[in-house]
Amino acid sequence: MAHISLYRKYRSQTFDEVIGQAHVTTTLANALSGDRLHHAYLFTGPRGTGKTSTARILAKAVNCVEGPTATPCNRCDQCTGITSGSSVDVIEIDAASHGGVDDVRDLRDRVAFAPVAARMKVYIVDECHMLSTAGWNAFLKTVEEPPGHVLFVFATTEPHKVLDTILSRTQRFDFKRIGAVELAQYCGALAEREGWQVEDGALDLVARAGEGSARDTLSILDQVVAFGGSDITVRGVVDVLGTVGGDVLTETVDRIAAGDVAGLCVQVGRLADGGQDLRQYARDVIEHLRRLFLVQTAPDAKLVDGTPEQLEALTAQAQRIGRVELVRAMDLMAEAMAQMRRGNTRLPLEIALVKAALPEACGDPGALAARMDRLERRSGVDAAPAEVTPTAPTSPPQSAEPQPVAAAPTPDPAPTAEPTSTPDPTPTSEPTSTSERTPTPEPERAPEPEAQPAPAAAGGVDIDLVRSTWPALLDAVKTRSKRLHAFLSPAQPTTLSGGELALVFGPNSSFHAEQCASSEWREQLTAAFTDVLGEPLRVQCTVRDDSDAAPGHVGADAEEAAARSEATAVAESEAAEAAGELPDDDEAHERAVETLTRDLGATVVDDA
Ligand SMILES: [Zn+2]
Repeated sequence: MAHISLYRKYRSQTFDEVIGQAHVTTTLANALSGDRLHHAYLFTGPRGTGKTSTARILAKAVNCVEGPTATPCNRCDQCTGITSGSSVDVIEIDAASHGGVDDVRDLRDRVAFAPVAARMKVYIVDECHMLSTAGWNAFLKTVEEPPGHVLFVFATTEPHKVLDTILSRTQRFDFKRIGAVELAQYCGALAEREGWQVEDGALDLVARAGEGSARDTLSILDQVVAFGGSDITVRGVVDVLGTVGGDVLTETVDRIAAGDVAGLCVQVGRLADGGQDLRQYARDVIEHLRRLFLVQTAPDAKLVDGTPEQLEALTAQAQRIGRVELVRAMDLMAEAMAQMRRGNTRLPLEIALVKAALPEACGDPGALAARMDRLERRSGVDAAPAEVTPTAPTSPPQSAEPQPVAAAPTPDPAPTAEPTSTPDPTPTSEPTSTSERTPTPEPERAPEPEAQPAPAAAGGVDIDLVRSTWPALLDAVKTRSKRLHAFLSPAQPTTLSGGELALVFGPNSSFHAEQCASSEWREQLTAAFTDVLGEPLRVQCTVRDDSDAAPGHVGADAEEAAARSEATAVAESEAAEAAGELPDDDEAHERAVETLTRDLGATVVDDA
C-alpha cells in the first residue's frame, strides 16, 4: 500500500481542525453563519500554515448539501468530491505552473457559466503572486464584477506582489506561523492516534524544526518515523534533522561562559567526527543564544516557546552568562556562519567559539564590554541589587584561595552560576589591608564602578593556562605591535612561578629573546599579558643551547641578520600604516581573523 503522508492523511477538514489560525477560521465561520460572505478572499502567510486547506473547507462550507454552513458534513457528494479534488465546480489553479495569460482568459470565459452540480463555483488560485501582470489584468474584470455564483480565494506567500486593484477588492486574511508548542501538541495527538511511542522532548525538536509550518513539521515527523520506526526518540529526531540536542547547546554556551576554550574545541571535534553538519550546529547555537537572550531580557514576555522544563533550564542558564557576552557571541557566530558558507566550516566555527569564550583575547570594544560583563558576573556585582544583603562599602574578598579561572580545561559552571549568593562575609586569613601583597595569587574583589578589569581575573594563572591561551596572547601582542609580535613568535612558554614566565627561544632567535627581555618592550608585553590573563606577568628569556645540533649553527649569524632585517621591515610597514589611513574595520577584522585562523590552525593540528 502506498504511503500516505501525514500531512495529506491529517489534512484539516473542518475549520476547527485548522491549527493556529483561529483569527481566520472564526471570522469565516461567523460570516457563513451570518450570510455575510465576500466573493473574493486573499489568504496570505508562510507556506504550510493552512491557506489552501482553509480555502477547500470554505468551498465545502458553501457547497455542502447541508449548507451553506460553518460546519460542512464531509460526507455528502459535494464535500467528498471537494476533499478528493474531483469536484468540477471547485477549480484549483496553481499560478506557479499556470501563470500564463491564456489560462486566465480561458478562465474568464468559463467563469460566466453556472456551476454544474454545486451551489457555487469556487476558484482557488494558489501562489497567486506568480500570475503575470497580464494574467492579473485578465482576471481583474471577473473579480471586479463577479457573477453571483462565483467565489474566489487567492492564496499567496508574497502579498506585496499582489496588485493593488486585487488587494482592494478582496478581503484579506493573514495566516500566521504556528507556535512550536502548538505544533508539538498537534504532533503528539497524531502520534497517539497512530499508536507511536514518543520520548519526552523529541516532538519539541520536530516542531521547532518545522518553523511554524504544519506541513513542514509533519513532513519531518514522516521522515523521523520512516527512518527510526514508530518509536520516536530524541536521538532519532536528531539523526534525521542533523540538528544537535538541547543538551549539546547548553554545554556549548556553558563552555563559552566559563571560557573553556579547550572544551569547546573538543566538542566541535566530537561533532565533526560524528558527521554532524557544523553549519546546522552553528545555526542551532545562534538560535539557542537568541532564546537565552530573550529569556534574559524579557523574562515575562513569553517570547520563547518551550515546555515548562525547557524554559526553566533556559532561565537557569541565562543567569550563568552576561547579556553583553550573549550578544557578542551571537555576533561572532553570525559572522562565522557567513564565512562557513564560503567553504571551510570547522575553522571559522572554532574561531568564533574561541573568541566568544575569550573576550580577553580580543581588542574590539565589544570584547571589552563582554569582559566587564563577565568580571561583574563573577564578582557578583551584576546580581540583582535588591537581593544582595547590604555590605560594608568595600566588599570583603570572597576567597583568598586561587579561583578556578576562565580557561580551566573542564568547564564547571557552578562557580560562575553562584554569584547571586551573598558574598561570604567570613574574613579570610589574608588581611584586607592595602599593604603590598605578592602579585599572585590575588584575592578576587568586586571591581569599583569604574574598575579596570585587570586585577579581578587574578589568581590561578598557571603554565597550562598560558600555553592554552598562547595564540590569543600572540594575537593581543600583535594588536599592540607587529614588531613585538615578530620577536615573541618563536618563544615557547615553559614554566611560570612567582609571576615570572620563562620563555625559551631557539638558538637562532637570540635577537628575538634579547628584544623580548629589553626594557623597550616590557611595558607592552606586560600589558598584553594583563589583557589576556588578567595578570601582569614578567618574562624571563633564555636561548636554548643546541650546540649538539652544530651543523646549523654556523649560519646563526646570518639567520640573526635575517631576523633583524625582518623586524625592521615589519617596523617600516607599521610606520607606513600609522602614517597613512587606518585600515577600515572590515579589513582589520579580516586580518585579525586570518591571524587567529593561522594560530588556531596550528594549535588544532598540534592537538590532533
Ligand atoms: Zn457536506
